[in-house]
Amino acid sequence: MKKFDKLTVCLDMRGCPNRCRHCWLGAVPNGNMEKEELRFAAREFKPLANTFEIDFWYREPDFGDNYRELWELTEELSDVKTPHFEIMSFWRAVRDKDYIPWLYSLGVRVCQLTLFGGEEKTDHYVGRKGAYGEIVKTIEMLLEHKISPRIQAFVNKDNIDELCEIERLAEDMSLEKRCEQFGGKFVMFVHQGSCDGENEKFYDAWVTLDDLKKIPPKLAEKTLEHFGKQSLSEVFGETEHDLLLKLENDSSVTDFRESSPVFYVDRNFDVYPNVSTPEPFWCLGNLKRDKAERIAENYLENKSAAQNVSVTVPVCELAKKLGNPDSMRLFSKGDYFDYLLNRYCREM
Ligand code: SF4
Repeated sequence: MKKFDKLTVCLDMRGCPNRCRHCWLGAVPNGNMEKEELRFAAREFKPLANTFEIDFWYREPDFGDNYRELWELTEELSDVKTPHFEIMSFWRAVRDKDYIPWLYSLGVRVCQLTLFGGEEKTDHYVGRKGAYGEIVKTIEMLLEHKISPRIQAFVNKDNIDELCEIERLAEDMSLEKRCEQFGGKFVMFVHQGSCDGENEKFYDAWVTLDDLKKIPPKLAEKTLEHFGKQSLSEVFGETEHDLLLKLENDSSVTDFRESSPVFYVDRNFDVYPNVSTPEPFWCLGNLKRDKAERIAENYLENKSAAQNVSVTVPVCELAKKLGNPDSMRLFSKGDYFDYLLNRYCREM
């Protein structure tokens, strides 16, 4: 087979301490993969790409106690190492005093944390009591270390009236001013997330056009700034009704293949392309049972059930079969396509 330009492989070595109700990666049990398994995955996949990179997580970053050792090992096993993302583990931050200084030492200057409203709502949506308190404590710790917190809010009809709590927290903690004091910048934004994984269960509570006016003004202003948009409807997308009108005569198909893909390897060594939620119909094979080359070929030949549907079934057919023309729910076009595709595959 022709080599990929670049292949990135991420193992879900330890899972995640949280069970967020919006998680597109799914609420699956945590695994406990060994260092040797990281080496094994690298050995298998590395020959398939001109440039190879491996990482030890795709759910919670740095969740395992040996996170530093794993970071160094992935440096050793990779041809290139992407800098640490601007996402972090608040679970670890409040339990490990060396964690935030370590992030700083890697050059991290902004870290994203997710809120759903006040304490009760956030604990409920993160799926863990005490999560809100840990996030607030983490924000303080980030500021002490001159790292700017970036607050992301997910919204649906159930928590939209609680968004004012997020504004209030930012105000009470003087986040804007405190970031400016060390030359940082405070960012916060709200969106509905993609309608896949756990978040798909909120389809019935999905944000509609009339909800946008309920987004509090400061959060709305910062959201437009963050996304570089003029209006909230540009951020939240079009109504399902309007999208269906556009799709009814659209006979195009979608090919997800890339020359530099990212593969996710779950705790059971099942491999998925990083396109949508890792559900069985996206699975490319199992690294313990199948050769890495076979898994890559399955990707390149659109053999997973979802890839196969996406290149053979025109979008108008997905829309006709599963769309709801009376719905005023808001989606970006890409997210709506993924929602239709996942449903189609599940019901197939
Ligand atoms: S959204 Fe992130 S933190 Fe929440 S359950 Fe999923 S992987 Fe874990």
